[in-house]
Amino acid sequence: MTVVCAWCQHQGRTTVLREKEPFDRPVISHGICDEHAVAFLAEVRETVTPASSLDRVRAR
Ligand SMILES: [Zn+2]
Repeated sequence: MTVVCAWCQHQGRTTVLREKEPFDRPVISHGICDEHAVAFLAEVRETVTPASSLDRVRAR
């Protein structure tokens, strides 16, 4: 089975990450490439509410 990056696939690209068992079956599994792993982590960090905006909520 072929492991491809789901994010790349969404952008119309096929990035093969690795091949894994069973090797004799043309099955696609999804993973994430290094490039998109970095982008994804950056996005997660941005979504976390910064402490400064919490102060603004408390001031109301
Ligand atoms: Zn990717």
